[in-house]
Amino acid sequence: MPDGMSSMMKPLILVVEDEAPLVTMLRYNLEKQGFRVEEAADGQEALTRIAETKPDLVLLDWMLPAMSGIEVCRQIRRKPGTRDLPVIMVTARTEDSDAVRALNTGADDYIVKPFAIENLMARIRALLRRAGAPPAKGTLKFHDIAMDLAAHRVQRQGRSVHLGPTEFRLLEFFMQHPGRVFSREELLDAVWGPDIHVEPRTVDVHIRRLRKSLNGEADQDVIRTVRAAGYALDLEPSI
Ligand code: CA
Repeated sequence: MPDGMSSMMKPLILVVEDEAPLVTMLRYNLEKQGFRVEEAADGQEALTRIAETKPDLVLLDWMLPAMSGIEVCRQIRRKPGTRDLPVIMVTARTEDSDAVRALNTGADDYIVKPFAIENLMARIRALLRRAGAPPAKGTLKFHDIAMDLAAHRVQRQGRSVHLGPTEFRLLEFFMQHPGRVFSREELLDAVWGPDIHVEPRTVDVHIRRLRKSLNGEADQDVIRTVRAAGYALDLEPSI
């Protein structure tokens, strides 16, 4: 196979980071693992590089000069062309609320500096798998929600609902098993994959995002929180 062909198929990772030694280390490791790498040293450059190079995933540092990683992430999510783009936020902070904040601004995952490179690689692979898994066929229906798996579209009472890649897989999993209660660990296994370590609390953040996207003001909440047990897709109220 010509070189050009094989490099076309390698996923492209955009590394947004202002610390040059860290960029060098990330580039070295990512290329060794079979990824292509683009770089951006600040938020504005990141948005330009995203538009120009159409990366498969963005590794986004929180602390950047001028525009924070959070703001870059918000802008990525606001634009129709990039709102599905997988984003992993890199944070040097360790406060729990910051990790949750990273996810709440629309990042798909986060990793705390300093991190083990194997941990980062596992997260990148898992997220690429979630975002790029071959589409299943058919339409799933529950109550007033219809999920067109082939077209990757969700509608509620005819209104189209936009979901990020993780929320889409979560809803797909729930809609395949309506009424069943799943623990956070079961959801992590089913949606994130068994080979990746994610804190169970991460599930809560994605459930919150799924609810927010799914539930209009007049809609019934179809995700039931079952205290000490987990979550289910059904119409009974949360207890
Ligand atoms: Ca930085």
